Amino acid sequence: MSLSVNDPSLTSWVEVAKDSDFPIQNLPLGIIQMWNEKPRVASRIGDFAIDLKSLYVLGYMENLAFSADDFDTNSLNKMMKKGKLGTRKLRERISKLLQSGTSDLKNKQHHVDQILIPMEDVTMLMPIEIGDYTDFYSSEQHAFNVGCLFRDPENALMPNWKHIPVGYHGRSSSILPSGVDFHRPKGQMKPPTADLPVFGQSNLLDFELETAFFTYEGKPLGGSISTTEADDYIFGMTLLNDWSARDIQGWEYVPLGPFLGKNFASHISCWIVTLDALEPFRVPGPVQDPKVLPYLEYTGDKHIAINLDVLIQPEGKEAVSVCTSNYRHMYWNMNQQLAHHSVNGCNIRTGDCMGSGTISGPEVGQYGSMLEISWKGTKPFAMPDGSERKFILDNDTVIMRGYCEKDGVRIGFGEVAAKVLPAN
Ligand code: MN
Repeated sequence: MSLSVNDPSLTSWVEVAKDSDFPIQNLPLGIIQMWNEKPRVASRIGDFAIDLKSLYVLGYMENLAFSADDFDTNSLNKMMKKGKLGTRKLRERISKLLQSGTSDLKNKQHHVDQILIPMEDVTMLMPIEIGDYTDFYSSEQHAFNVGCLFRDPENALMPNWKHIPVGYHGRSSSILPSGVDFHRPKGQMKPPTADLPVFGQSNLLDFELETAFFTYEGKPLGGSISTTEADDYIFGMTLLNDWSARDIQGWEYVPLGPFLGKNFASHISCWIVTLDALEPFRVPGPVQDPKVLPYLEYTGDKHIAINLDVLIQPEGKEAVSVCTSNYRHMYWNMNQQLAHHSVNGCNIRTGDCMGSGTISGPEVGQYGSMLEISWKGTKPFAMPDGSERKFILDNDTVIMRGYCEKDGVRIGFGEVAAKVLPAN
């Protein structure tokens, strides 16, 4: 699909640095707060937030499906109710107003001053009121690595793995926006050498490098979304750090799967990059062998090349890169995940969040969790300050970044960052 607003030759009269994640081809959506004012809906170009409420009030949104209420609010959910075509038209309008050669807004400096807000003057808030959170397990290298660590290479993948996009239902209440620090979780665990479980702080706190996608209103209960229809139900994506307490998880997960080792915190980046903006960066996925069941078949390029980086920043020190991966390495794509999720008639709602699962690439250095990077603690990662990491220490900040690049255009997600505070 080719959208004119994605044209690599487009430029804006707003100055955008060459390595910015937010050129005119991106125009993500998020929620900003200025000083103590009410939160509102915004987009972004370069180092400016674009205040969409002001854009509406000043008359630049005529003939669109939106009302002032859709922008004068603390989540994107209301505007997401307008569906794919509604938000696509909105992005086209914002692009048109900011394009070089369009002067409607540019020539009214008093309007520009109200609409373009320097990013240093805004706080980014949680962009979406998330209903349900589902996390998949769709990177083959990650599933293989974990299978090797806990079983053996011959039986690394479970028999269902290449037939089902494996997932579980998580918890949305503890999904946080980038920048909100959290305390190391406590819980019950059983050390390998102990006979009985103990209670205490998690000592094996890990990150998971993931992306998330957010849905438009799906079909009513009983309806299913096909792989072909899935694009129309996906609003956009963020980076996701799906924190894990490996020691709590390891003791609790049999037989019902992840619980308290997973639901204490997950962080997302604050700008939702629309699926429309990501279309130019589509790539083919892996050949799926064995052949999948018909409801999971898809046509066209449904994977997306997104460069991903993870850094650990110890308190007061430089951030250190520990992983460089790419979203293109996924085995299952979002269309298959959504089709599988709804094939039983499960209804998908506006603002549901679906995690990709840890994204590990095929090479050492591309593994998306400390569990894999340190190979279950047997190969500590050497930090330049002389310390080492098997897992994440107190006061470490974990930073994830992501961007796509093609034809001279770079669009990105910014970052998701959060610091681990000592246990309460
Ligand atoms: Mn996860």
